Amino acid sequence: MVVDVSYILKEHSEDATQASSGVTGILAVQGAFAEHAAMLDRLGAPWKLLRAREDFDESIDRVILPGGESTTQGKLLRSTGLFDPINEHIKAGRPVFGTCAGMILLAERLDNDPNVYFGALDATVRRNAYGRQLGSFTATENITTFNPDFPDGKLTGIIKAFPLVFIRGPFVAEVGPKAHVMCETNGNMVALQQDRILATAFHPEITSDTRIHEFFLQC
Ligand code: GLN
Repeated sequence: MVVDVSYILKEHSEDATQASSGVTGILAVQGAFAEHAAMLDRLGAPWKLLRAREDFDESIDRVILPGGESTTQGKLLRSTGLFDPINEHIKAGRPVFGTCAGMILLAERLDNDPNVYFGALDATVRRNAYGRQLGSFTATENITTFNPDFPDGKLTGIIKAFPLVFIRGPFVAEVGPKAHVMCETNGNMVALQQDRILATAFHPEITSDTRIHEFFLQC
């Protein structure tokens, strides 16, 4: 889904300023955050961009970490002061959805990068995992969703034939016992759920398929 030019100026959805809770904060220091905003508008879910520490207020119930460049995002998370409130949110078990670079920021381990950011997702993630030949591609796969209240992985459903769009993305090299595999393609694990943490190596926000975002809003 290509985003309308109006998102150049939008900092929040219309209903987000009066809301005292239920708002999704979208990390907006770098990367593909406007695409997530447009997706939430399609679903009628309030959102605001997180650009500075003071944007993270008590109205924020869930957080999206968008695609982009994880090293740059990691530095900007520190310099804006957003790292600590987002880290506390994640450690409190509240919902967070990382796409692509966002998956890298969530991982406990990276196998080709010495950095660790939020270190919350029980997995080893490999950056730029598909090599030079095929950095960006599409595929179609089923996605398994899990009940976030059952840490040992109780299925809630299958999202059938979801369009996967990869842009120089990571994959999951190893998954630990706390995380559950939502999706594999070509023998690689590309989406995980750990309670209220969702992470996809691909970009649902640039498709017109709202189903993963809908699932996240119920977590
Ligand atoms: N290659 C990027 C990284 O390693 C992620 C790419 C993306 O988010 N589309 O940070």
